[in-house]
Amino acid sequence: MTRDDALATDNADLLSEYRDHFHIPDADVIYLDGNSLGRPTLEGVERIENTLHEEWGRGLVRSWRREWIGLPEQIGDLLAPIIGASPGEVLIADQTSVNLFKLASAALAATGRTDIVLDDSNFPSDLYVLDAVARAAGGHLRIASADRTAGPTVDDLDPLLDEHVGVVSLSHVGFKTGALADMHEITATAHNAGALALWDLSHSAGVVPVDLNAYNVDLAVGCTYKYLNGGPGAPAFLYVRWDLQEHLATPIPGWFGHADMFAFDPTYSPAPGIRRFAAGTPPILSLRGAQAGISLSAEAGIEAIRTKSVQLTEFLIARYDARLAGLGFALGSPRNPDRRGGHVSVHHPHAYPIAQALIDRNVIPDFRAPDTIRLGLAPLYTAFTEVWDAVEVFADVVESGAYRDYPATPEGVT
Ligand SMILES: *Cc1c(COP(=O)(O)O)cnc(C)c1O
Repeated sequence: MTRDDALATDNADLLSEYRDHFHIPDADVIYLDGNSLGRPTLEGVERIENTLHEEWGRGLVRSWRREWIGLPEQIGDLLAPIIGASPGEVLIADQTSVNLFKLASAALAATGRTDIVLDDSNFPSDLYVLDAVARAAGGHLRIASADRTAGPTVDDLDPLLDEHVGVVSLSHVGFKTGALADMHEITATAHNAGALALWDLSHSAGVVPVDLNAYNVDLAVGCTYKYLNGGPGAPAFLYVRWDLQEHLATPIPGWFGHADMFAFDPTYSPAPGIRRFAAGTPPILSLRGAQAGISLSAEAGIEAIRTKSVQLTEFLIARYDARLAGLGFALGSPRNPDRRGGHVSVHHPHAYPIAQALIDRNVIPDFRAPDTIRLGLAPLYTAFTEVWDAVEVFADVVESGAYRDYPATPEGVT
């Protein structure tokens, strides 16, 4: 395999033109962290500017009724097909952590149960939030231990399920491992035990097709600023299956979720449908960024995105085997592409200084303590030649010992 093979793959790539839809001021930077913060879309920049100058500047408060009030549901409908949901089942609101709190609390209250099952590879915020939710219900978390590379399976979770468990909450793609969980089987297992399934789609939305309706998933949350390129701190999304909506009550019943918000009724009564899960005023500028990012992914099509994503991660792993495997690295993600999301993790005892050396050489991955480097490949703007070049820089930094010029840990402690 040569760099020309990478070039040929770029030339044959049906999504290559999508790179031109992004604001990329520094083409020398190989950005491999789109799974943490996606690049800005040109349309997002334009929409945010227009919202500033026109809708806010000229429209002032009138823009709420003219343009803004329905955006959280409209953009939710735009996202719905990307995650296998139906219109009216997705709302853009708050942060992923907050949405997790709202939906898990509502689910425990509705099931009359107290405990939540998750696994120890889940994102820390999910662990903290769900722990608080279970305790507030008088119960506790039940934490399954998952394989460090393969992520959680039904066999890990099943022994923890009984009539006290109201929610099973997992990440669809593990933030460290990149492992793709079996949503179909795990959701069915939760249902068999009388629990609701609550999926965190932060690392799958916009890169892996999700089949919420097909698998009868109850609840889901996720970010718009990762593969959906919504912008830093862009609001998150939540999904509630339509037939459950009337049976769940949000623990943060704010005026934006009221049936008639402008009546300023002193008594809360929930809006019909997904809007009842809104709390307060949405961040309109960030919503515009999310709208543009979601529109671009919808236009490209999640199946085409997934096809390129698998090609990219397969290509990266082939380059890893050729150049990095002999340099003290261990692959931290599944080799089977059917069990892998959009990023690939590698472990190395000197992961932190290696990541710092890469960043100084214009290759931006991210580091997750203690020994993981994540390589996020965003199909809408990552090129195969970038993957090739990044792995060469990686190998050089290790072979030359250049990483030794950097502190061994984030604290600088050796
Ligand atoms: C990125 C991520 C989050 C982030 O949550 P915020 O509330 O938006 O900060 C939550 N869960 C998972 C699984 C993530 O990957």
